[in-house]
Amino acid sequence: MEPAHSIGKFGFRRWYERQLTEGFAWLITCLLCAVVIAAGIESVWSQLTSWRALAMFAFVYVVGLICWFALRRFIMLLTRAERIASHSSCESCGTNGRYAVLSETATMRVRCRKCAHEWTIPVGEALVKSQA
Ligand SMILES: [Zn+2]
Repeated sequence: MEPAHSIGKFGFRRWYERQLTEGFAWLITCLLCAVVIAAGIESVWSQLTSWRALAMFAFVYVVGLICWFALRRFIMLLTRAERIASHSSCESCGTNGRYAVLSETATMRVRCRKCAHEWTIPVGEALVKSQA
């Protein structure tokens, strides 16, 4: 379980910060790809009969795939981070995001660093099923 291992290694707050940073880096990649696609389409439009137009179509197609992957990655990272964050408050004392990871399974067992209360946080497949 990748999120559980990373949360155990870095702590929830640093893990969450890293997820947001990586997610927005993917969003910026997506937006830059969109600009490249628009510029590529414009250059193709002016020389539709040239052999370079075919090469530009192929280039735009590849950049489009990168753009689509970046957008999906951005959405996945932010959705997962928000879902895990919604389970990260201690039910006993209300402390948010300060816990130690006890088990790195599909349902991550954690212990509050303030009051030692234990609870489970779904990650991976269990996370998706708990939100359905
Ligand atoms: Zn607590």
